[in-house]
Amino acid sequence: MNGFFCEWREPARQIPPFQHGPERLTERPPSTQHIDWHALYPNDVILSGPTDRKTVALTFDDGPDAVWTPQILSVLDRYRIKAEFNCVGQRIQQYPYMLEEMFRRGHNIENHSWSHPNFTKISLTEARQQIERTNAFIERILGVRPYFFRPPYGALNQDVIREIISLRMKILLWDVDSLDWAGLTRKQVEANVLSQARPGSIILLHFAGGRDESLEDTVQALPNIIRTLRREGYSFATVAELLELPAYQPRGT
Ligand code: ZN
Repeated sequence: MNGFFCEWREPARQIPPFQHGPERLTERPPSTQHIDWHALYPNDVILSGPTDRKTVALTFDDGPDAVWTPQILSVLDRYRIKAEFNCVGQRIQQYPYMLEEMFRRGHNIENHSWSHPNFTKISLTEARQQIERTNAFIERILGVRPYFFRPPYGALNQDVIREIISLRMKILLWDVDSLDWAGLTRKQVEANVLSQARPGSIILLHFAGGRDESLEDTVQALPNIIRTLRREGYSFATVAELLELPAYQPRGT
């Protein structure tokens, strides 16, 4: 751990709670619903990338924090991998220096709402505010506005999807779920990823958890996931690279 992170290390209990709690199965729709949404909106609801190349993308949700985020950044640096970090607005408000650090290291910064509500349980006005407030905050600090929105819990309905499309953003889902937020062992997280990964996969991991939740399994599992996939001939790209789309919205829109 370098001096930058030691200097800023803070206890995890300072992280504000999420509106509908941390990732949990009770808030999550079945993955078949994701496939249905993608079938209805193939260009706007993204599950994975092209299957003709052995390339995958790592995506991380729910941070930043000052405990797990630096450790995950260190692992990615060690293996020279750039990833998508889907950030929660209230957490970047608390750790703006971490947002800058992720961006400085070349990762893509995307939108995971302001306070992590289930978007099917709030009004469309609130949904829009959740996205726009986070975009505005990121733009104020980094000068870029996210192009991808990852819905908390992956929860969507038709109205929410249309609202996000009207904001000219893409909805970033996944086809490989590590379930790393569920208190699994390193081996279980590795198995979840390695058994599902295929060319074009978008892999869901986390870079911060709920209050007092540990992401030790993620930090421990990542090196072996990366080494194993590389041994199998895979390379790593950002989602934007995988899909050949911009990471950020064009200026002046
Ligand atoms: Zn989340």
